[in-house]
Amino acid sequence: MAEVETGGHTVRDSNGGSFRYNKLLLATGGTPRRLTIPGGDLEGLSYYRTLQDYQKLRAATAAGKSAVVIGGGFIGSEMAAALCMNGLAVTMIFPEEWVVSRVFPESLGRALVDYYRSKGIVVLAKDVPISIEESSNGHIVHTRAGQHVHGDLVVVGIGITPNTSLAKAAGLKTGNGIVVDDFLRTSHPDVYAAGDVAFFPEQVLGPRRIEHWDNAVSQGKHAGRNMAGLNKPFTEMPYFFSDLFEFGYEAVGEVDSRLETFTDWQEPNKTGVIYYLDGARVRGAMMCNVWGKVDAARELIRNVQPMRVQDLRNAIR
Ligand SMILES: Cc1cc2nc3c(=O)[nH]c(=O)nc-3n(C[C@H](O)[C@H](O)[C@H](O)COP(=O)(O)OP(=O)(O)OC[C@H]3O[C@@H](n4cnc5c(N)ncnc54)[C@H](O)[C@@H]3O)c2cc1C
Repeated sequence: MAEVETGGHTVRDSNGGSFRYNKLLLATGGTPRRLTIPGGDLEGLSYYRTLQDYQKLRAATAAGKSAVVIGGGFIGSEMAAALCMNGLAVTMIFPEEWVVSRVFPESLGRALVDYYRSKGIVVLAKDVPISIEESSNGHIVHTRAGQHVHGDLVVVGIGITPNTSLAKAAGLKTGNGIVVDDFLRTSHPDVYAAGDVAFFPEQVLGPRRIEHWDNAVSQGKHAGRNMAGLNKPFTEMPYFFSDLFEFGYEAVGEVDSRLETFTDWQEPNKTGVIYYLDGARVRGAMMCNVWGKVDAARELIRNVQPMRVQDLRNAIR
């Protein structure tokens, strides 16, 4: 889609086609951030996002090859585990001290770094790439700490930028995403936004943008219903999930490692629940290898009664 004209209720595509609408949904997602270092634009680096990116990487993946994964967030940590499980020799490079550091509290994050190392992954934490050059068989990534790491494959996962330009050009309110109200309506009443691109007033936790699958699905459905006349606020609290080797988790609410946490392990750093607290309130919960408890966690987060930390032991099992 190349242009939205809200006044005339028309969208135009890049082939010159023109389409009228009564209601319009913008679900334009995000674009991977790119490395702004010498070599960051080299052909052959994978800024992993789309089906085509997957197909290309899948075709290039073979046991015995080497891979460098740049970034230690959701994408980097999943990608490193997946490539390792496919028999590649993986090196991870990221500036934080442990993987998924925005979410995992320190003790779990450090334990997972040890876990990754035990699987054979070389983890270069607290380091960043400063340049990348092509080699006869792949690329060499040079790091600030003086490492020179060869990868037959190099995958970069350093976050996304929401695709707001279409909305911005149409005069819609944007900021950290396309700004929507409780009904997922943008600043124009006939235009809605949902998914990774939508900055929405989350009912319990406050305004935010969420880059997760369940949010995209539930907001997409809800926006569609409102566009068809339901006209109800979006009140769902989306969850997210990830799988890192045998460590799988589901999380809901504000799982921010800067919050105080209380951890109720059945088996340390493997099975249990991490509660993210703001004073006497639970703001988020992460169920590690504990399944089917997302609704119970939502209930705790919605509960406005003050909770004592000792009440949280066994609160979710
Ligand atoms: C590798 C990877 C692993 C992930 N793993 C997990 C996970 O384990 N758990 C989880 O909860 N989430 C995960 N996610 C996140 C999840 O996939 C996203 O939150 C979800 O795809 C967002 O959906 P969306 O429809 O909002 O955006 P997208 O899926 O990004 O779709 C946006 C679409 O809009 C199109 N578009 C953009 N601009 C225009 C335009 N101007 N005109 C027309 N079309 C346009 C794009 O081409 C794209 O097709 C992962 C994402 C990636 C990339």
